[in-house]
Amino acid sequence: MNTRYLGWLTAGLAGTALFVAGCKTALEAGGMRVPAADSVYLNASVYTVDDDQPWAEAVAVRNGELVYVGSNEGVAAYADGDTRVTDLGGKMMLPGFVDSHMHPLMGGAYALALALDTFAGPEDWVEAVSDYAEQHQDKPVIFGYGFLASAFGADGPHKAMLDKVVSDRPVLLMDEGFHGAWANSKALEVLNITKDTPDIAPGFSYYKRGDGNEPTGYLLEGTAGKAMEDLDVITLESITQGSELVFNIMNSYGITAVFDAGAFDAAEHQVSVLKKLQDANKMHVRYVGSHAIVSADQIDGAIDRVEELRRTSKSDRFHVNMLKIMNDGTIEGKTAAMFEDYQGDPGNNGKTVFSQEQMNDLVSESAKRDIDVHIHALGERAVHEALNAVELAKTTHKDSISRYSICHVQVVTDESIKRFAELGVVAQSTPLWTSFDSQGQKYVSEDQFNRYFRYNSFKENDVTLAFGSDFPASGAGTLGMSPVFNMEIGHTRQETGERDAPIQPNISERLDIASLIRGYTLGSAYQLRMEDQIGSLEVGKKADFVVLDKNLFETDPYTFSDVKVTMTVMDGNVVYSLR
Ligand SMILES: [Zn+2]
Repeated sequence: MNTRYLGWLTAGLAGTALFVAGCKTALEAGGMRVPAADSVYLNASVYTVDDDQPWAEAVAVRNGELVYVGSNEGVAAYADGDTRVTDLGGKMMLPGFVDSHMHPLMGGAYALALALDTFAGPEDWVEAVSDYAEQHQDKPVIFGYGFLASAFGADGPHKAMLDKVVSDRPVLLMDEGFHGAWANSKALEVLNITKDTPDIAPGFSYYKRGDGNEPTGYLLEGTAGKAMEDLDVITLESITQGSELVFNIMNSYGITAVFDAGAFDAAEHQVSVLKKLQDANKMHVRYVGSHAIVSADQIDGAIDRVEELRRTSKSDRFHVNMLKIMNDGTIEGKTAAMFEDYQGDPGNNGKTVFSQEQMNDLVSESAKRDIDVHIHALGERAVHEALNAVELAKTTHKDSISRYSICHVQVVTDESIKRFAELGVVAQSTPLWTSFDSQGQKYVSEDQFNRYFRYNSFKENDVTLAFGSDFPASGAGTLGMSPVFNMEIGHTRQETGERDAPIQPNISERLDIASLIRGYTLGSAYQLRMEDQIGSLEVGKKADFVVLDKNLFETDPYTFSDVKVTMTVMDGNVVYSLR
């Protein structure tokens, strides 16, 4: 970073006659007197995401807000002797990235746990558990996450593999999507999970069984979450420490705002963790949070809880104000709700967590109280039913200002895409998931496989796209948080850096770079109801921006993983700088 002061700027722009010596607070700009800026950034390729002025060279910041976005010459009027001037040497500046679906606090809860490499395999995972257990003799429970359940075939992972390396302490590992867990025998014993233990919701939230109905150590959906709770692997202390780490990593990837799509195991401590971090000045990310419900027994009181949080949690850096509804599972788990049966599994077309009627009631009641709603719908039927609920809510409560977003949207029909547009629903998704899905391909029909992640169709139909990482459930560790990394895959629909890798159909759904950037900035800001403050670089908006060492429009997308964030600025303060 090349930071110099006014002396340099005056020399560099000598002869512009805009610098009036001795004038501390105001200078001449086109005949108008303007207050001096705290900082000025110039010589950049500024991509503003503002349709009225897509490109600029320089910005000026005062009191944490943008007071000028324009040319190198024009910005000079905003600098006086106290203004900090940074020459960006042609680097690319973008609005701070907004991650519109992540679980930073839940990620924080896991940040100090054992992180498994999803792209490794069963042997490696077992070895990692063995090493971690040896290095952490003091931990009463070995807790980790990140394995890929489908690597074990239809039966899922088995306790016996873990028993070989740890038999004296419970081991509990969450899968990469947090839809299942792998436990050793000691964990099952401590949790008292036996052949007689009833499933929470047979077929969806259940214990995988072997001979004699014995649990195999593979726990699905709610049973996995319950095991975590019962083993008490998450504490206020671990969440706070871990969340600080997560917020810092977000800054290193250029993220300055986030939507928390469910704190889940950290929910109980959500507001206290945020307050602690904010008060300690350790939170350089704007945070919009939600109250998440994942089963029908959580309907009662859910909307009251959102209202209470909306009223009591508003602060400078955070506001918990949205309802998140989890309505189906995943394709690999064959729990995403589809119109067709899963291949080779007649009678199973997945399941929604809530009935259409329950969904209707939840969304309509939210509309009545002007609460924004974020609905997890991955399969085509879950998406369809979510749209039905929004349509009804919008018809019943015409004056409601509620906004709706449907997240993941993995398999979507043509009809649904049109309804997203008609109803003004945001399509939220994680671009890094759009590379070729060799696992999922086995479970869905060719027609469904061709209707995966239809980003370009959404764009062509003027649907607002919003992108996010779903960390820690992205399946790529902390790298999964990186918007630039996500953009590569959203653009290529291939494995990162692999020009010859298979392309996820339909190839026409590859999304252009400008739309990917918009989805990671203004589109996501809209979902967070913050588009008047962030998401584009315009005068009057917050000075939240990111500087990249390369211009994404002039860089081979297959090399996006090499693009570096050199600086992240929030409220006009540098919160990350590449050393
Ligand atoms: Zn999520």
